[in-house]
Amino acid sequence: MNKEGHVLNGALLAVGLGVILTIDPTTGSLLSGGDGGASRDLATVAGDTAWMVAELSLPVVLGALFPDVDTAFGRHRKTLHNLPLLVVFVAFPYLFGNLQFVWIGVATHYVLDVLGSKRGIALFYPFSSKEYGFPTGVATSSQWANPVTIAVTGVELLALALVHYYAFALDTSLADAGNVFRTAMGV
Ligand SMILES: [Zn+2]
Repeated sequence: MNKEGHVLNGALLAVGLGVILTIDPTTGSLLSGGDGGASRDLATVAGDTAWMVAELSLPVVLGALFPDVDTAFGRHRKTLHNLPLLVVFVAFPYLFGNLQFVWIGVATHYVLDVLGSKRGIALFYPFSSKEYGFPTGVATSSQWANPVTIAVTGVELLALALVHYYAFALDTSLADAGNVFRTAMGV
């Protein structure tokens, strides 16, 4: 995708994820808290949601733009388009206490390039230069680029919502993952 597509994807994902993390429809009422169902009034819910969306927006959009820096150096769709780099972005906040949520933008950039654009990305670079794509992809210059971007974002949000509501809470699992990681690293 081009930069417009990645900004669109990052911005929509931040809004959707902010809503998913603050409003839990599985508790029976939209006004129930995620922490066991204490009722909240509409203004509180709207405020919490807006705050979460704002908190996610800038880091996610920045992360979504970052991988295409490799158009300027290195090898495009390889140097900054791989899972080893994503691991660095996921680990960074736990080690240094900043850059929270930027990895979400990097991850969604990869998803969009794999699912939404004709040319895939080298997920295992520098170990392998093979590029992985999906037949759903369109050319980045295609008139379908933005509709495909929106569709891919919708699929991402649906998957995230299903995981968050029915498998494990995305926000608490990150903290738990951090504790596990810290224990394993002895820091
Ligand atoms: Zn890219």
